[in-house]
Amino acid sequence: ASAASASLATIAQERGIKYFLISYVDLFGGLRAKLVPASAIEEMQKAGAGFAGFATWLDMSPADPDLFAVPDPSSLIQLPWNPEVGWLASDLVMDGKIVEQAPRSVLKAQLARAEALGYEMKSGVECEYFLISADGSAIHDGSDTAAKPCYDQSALMRQYGVIKEICDSMLQLGWGAYQNDHEDANGQFEMNWNYDNALITADRHVFFKYMVKSIAEKHGLRATFMPKPFINLTGSGCHVHVSLWKKGGNAFSDPKGELGVSQLGYHFIGGLIHNADALCALTNPTVNSYKRINAPRTISGATWAPNTVTYTGNNRTHMIRIPDAGRFEFRLADGAANPYLLQAGVLASGLDGIENERDPGKRLDINMYTEGHKVRGAKRLPLNLLDALRALEKSKVLKDSLGTALVDGYLKLKTEEWNAYSRHLTQWEREHTLDI
Ligand code: GLU
Ligand code: MG
Ligand code: MG
Repeated sequence: ASAASASLATIAQERGIKYFLISYVDLFGGLRAKLVPASAIEEMQKAGAGFAGFATWLDMSPADPDLFAVPDPSSLIQLPWNPEVGWLASDLVMDGKIVEQAPRSVLKAQLARAEALGYEMKSGVECEYFLISADGSAIHDGSDTAAKPCYDQSALMRQYGVIKEICDSMLQLGWGAYQNDHEDANGQFEMNWNYDNALITADRHVFFKYMVKSIAEKHGLRATFMPKPFINLTGSGCHVHVSLWKKGGNAFSDPKGELGVSQLGYHFIGGLIHNADALCALTNPTVNSYKRINAPRTISGATWAPNTVTYTGNNRTHMIRIPDAGRFEFRLADGAANPYLLQAGVLASGLDGIENERDPGKRLDINMYTEGHKVRGAKRLPLNLLDALRALEKSKVLKDSLGTALVDGYLKLKTEEWNAYSRHLTQWEREHTLDI
C-alpha cells in the first residue's frame, strides 16, 4: 500500500503507537487536535475525527454540522520526545465535501494547479524564534546581551540542551537538519533543515513550531514565533526559499539567465512583486507583523526585514534575494504566517506571474535601508494589517486562485481582529494625547 492509503491500525501495531494526534490548522495557524487511541484509529481514518468548526478560527457558525478531520497517513510523525504518540496532518471535510477554506486543502489545490502546468514547487522555510521565560516577559538568557549577538557562540551553546534535542529530533525524522545558529536578536535562534515538496515543507513547518514549543517547555522555557516580541530587537522572519521543478530538473535554473535564474523564475518573482500588498495579509497576518517589516534600525544596526517591494542579488535588505543560481529567498513572511497559506499564497502569486508573464522590473543592488529613499517609485510594503487586508480585499488574483471561501472567510475574521485592536487604548496614545 502507498503511504497515502496505508492502514494506520497496522502501522500502530508495527511501531508501537498507542495514540494518534489527529490535527488540523485553522485560518490563524492554530494547531487543533484530538487524541485518539490506536484501537479507534481504523474508523477515524475513514470517517475522520469530529470538531465544532466555529470553536476554532474558521469562518463557521455554531449552527454548522460537524467538521471532520481526515488524517493523511503520509504525514505521520511519531513525536520524537514521546514515540507512542503519532501526529497526523488532516484534510477537513463537512457534509462529505472538502472544506474550501481549509488551509491545507487550499495549498493542495495550488500545487495541483502548478502540476497541471507541469511544475512541482519545492521550498524550504527558515523559522526564527525566541527562547523566553515561561511567563513571556523577557528573553530567557539574562547573559545574552551583546549588541551584535548574531552567531554568538557562547549564547548559542548556553542553549545546547534545547537546541540539540530539537536538532536530534529532526535528524531522527529524516528531515536533513544541517545547521543551527543564534540569530541577530538577543535570545533568538534559527534551525535549518532541507527543502522539499511544498506540502511536505508546510506539514513540517506546522510540526516544527509544535516541536520547538514542546521541547522548550520541557526545559522550563517558552519559545515564541511572534514576529516582533521586543521592539528594539530584530523580529522573527520566516524566509521561504522557492524553486519550481519540471521532470526532475530545476526550472528556475538557467546558467545563461541573470544570476543563474531562468525567465520562468523572473516571471514568478514578477508575480510576487505584482501581488505583494495582498499577499502580505497572508504572509504577515497579525497586527504585530507590521512592527517587524516597518521597523527602523535596531540596536544591532539593521532589522534584516524588508520594507519595500523590491528584489536584488545576494543582499538582505530587499523583499526578495537571489543568493544563488536556481532559486530565490522570499524574505517578507514572518513567524505568525499560517504554514499552508504562506506556501499557497506564494505559489498563487508566482503562478499569476508565470501565466501573465509579469515583469519584475529592474533588480536593485543597493542597501535599501540607507539608499532606498533615492529610488523613485520603490513601492513600500503595507504599513499595517488594515492596509494589507484592504489590498487582499481588492485582489482578483488571490480571490480567483485561492478561492472566495478562503479569502472572504479570512478577511472576515482578520477584520474582526483589526477592529478589536483598534478599540484597544494604548499607553503611547495616553502619553502623546493626555495633555493636548
Ligand atoms: N530576523 C530577520 C527578519 O526578521 C532575518 C535575519 C536573517 O537574514 O536571517 O527577517
Ligand atoms: Mg535568519
Ligand atoms: Mg534567510
